[in-house]
Amino acid sequence: MLEKVLIANRGEIALRVLRACKELGIKTVAVHSTADKDLMHVRLSDESVCIGPPSPTDSYLNTPAIISAMEVTDADAVHPGYGFLSENADFAEQVENSGFVFIGPTSETIRLMGDKVSAISVMRKAGVPTVPGSNGPINDDKERTLSLAREIGYPVIIKASAGGGGRGMRVVHNEAALLKAIYVTQSEAKAFFGSGVVYLEKFLENPRHVEIQVIGDGHGNAIHLGDRDCSLQRRHQKVLEEAPAPGIPDAIREEVAQTCVQACKNMNYRGAGTLEFLYEDEGFYFIEMNTRVQVEHPVTEMVTGVDIVKEQLLIAGGEKLSISQSDVKIRGHAFECRINAEDPVTFLPSPGKVNLFHAPGGNGVRVDSHLYSGYSVPPYYDSLIAKLICHADTRDQALVRMQIALDEMLIDGIRSNIPLQRDLVRDAEFQKGCVNIHYLEKKLGSL
Ligand code: ADP
Repeated sequence: MLEKVLIANRGEIALRVLRACKELGIKTVAVHSTADKDLMHVRLSDESVCIGPPSPTDSYLNTPAIISAMEVTDADAVHPGYGFLSENADFAEQVENSGFVFIGPTSETIRLMGDKVSAISVMRKAGVPTVPGSNGPINDDKERTLSLAREIGYPVIIKASAGGGGRGMRVVHNEAALLKAIYVTQSEAKAFFGSGVVYLEKFLENPRHVEIQVIGDGHGNAIHLGDRDCSLQRRHQKVLEEAPAPGIPDAIREEVAQTCVQACKNMNYRGAGTLEFLYEDEGFYFIEMNTRVQVEHPVTEMVTGVDIVKEQLLIAGGEKLSISQSDVKIRGHAFECRINAEDPVTFLPSPGKVNLFHAPGGNGVRVDSHLYSGYSVPPYYDSLIAKLICHADTRDQALVRMQIALDEMLIDGIRSNIPLQRDLVRDAEFQKGCVNIHYLEKKLGSL
């Protein structure tokens, strides 16, 4: 069992991890930038260390400062949260080499999944359905590439193997544009990510984003915790998520989840992870695996009753999974609205002082947020300030609960996207379920 965990993150996820540590009787160390000394979890942690100035490069991405903080406080493990260093294999490796525990997979696994070409190859071996494509790097054989694209059918998408954050991708609509697009994507990928390796796959025109939560213990055991639909996105950023994904035949859902578990077993996967898929015409197509806890993990916790962060901590302490697949039952439906400090119409960030924060409550309502009245949202970081999660027996009931909770929620002093979320949960198409990944941007364009 871990004794002291350093939380290498900020905001709501740092508080989420702190709460899980406290439940398990694990001591906590908060690290923070000079701009973040007033964060809620810094106040609630057993110890705190300032690791640098506001810029993330100098603080939350500053590996030597974080490892020194672990040494100084005698912490035995680090929880990276999401974003920042959470999927940085070099960081995980340095943590391991310094004799500490990285709460997550091994650095080799992170590296393997961080490279999309190698991730696809691992998944295909386990029987996970992938997008029809080159299944490997595009090489210099132009004729072969052209005939492959012809076989798959246009449009196709060229993607950088080392890409991330929605960058390093280019859609190609016809053969005349293919070779130039490959060349440009290769050069950009080399400049941005340090590797010019690109691959090609079918571009799905109207997919949904459906993902599967997995947990493995590094002792050969792995399970899945069902799926989530995160199709409501703007600029590749998820806005509102739900579990389970609506309207998917159970047999299809179960079959793909089993392949995900198989992939985890094959890798002897350790920790929480998510396999992201595009879903179209009853087909699942793997796009990437995230080797960390995700922002939207609470919807899965609400429908399964499994505390994903506690499982992460127990597994990092060397324990086996506390539950087996047959213990996992999906009960009811949950939604999560991401509340951002931003203008609901222009989406411009809106940092500043929160004069008053009133969180909604009641049966089936959960708020994961570091906000409090008087707190100032700094301008340097991601604009996520709260996650509002509602759970009920049915999808319709959960939506009603979300409408009521959003109406109760009050953040005074800065602008937030609460008005947009209120509008979304009353949107007739969204209420029906199964909207695709273009729905939100189309709706916003037509407002
Ligand atoms: P990143 O790591 O940059 O997030 P992903 O592979 O997850 O890259 O792709 C990001 C987004 O790009 C997806 O959520 C989807 O909207 C779009 N996308 C990626 N591959 C395809 C594809 N084959 N067809 C259609 N859209 C795609």
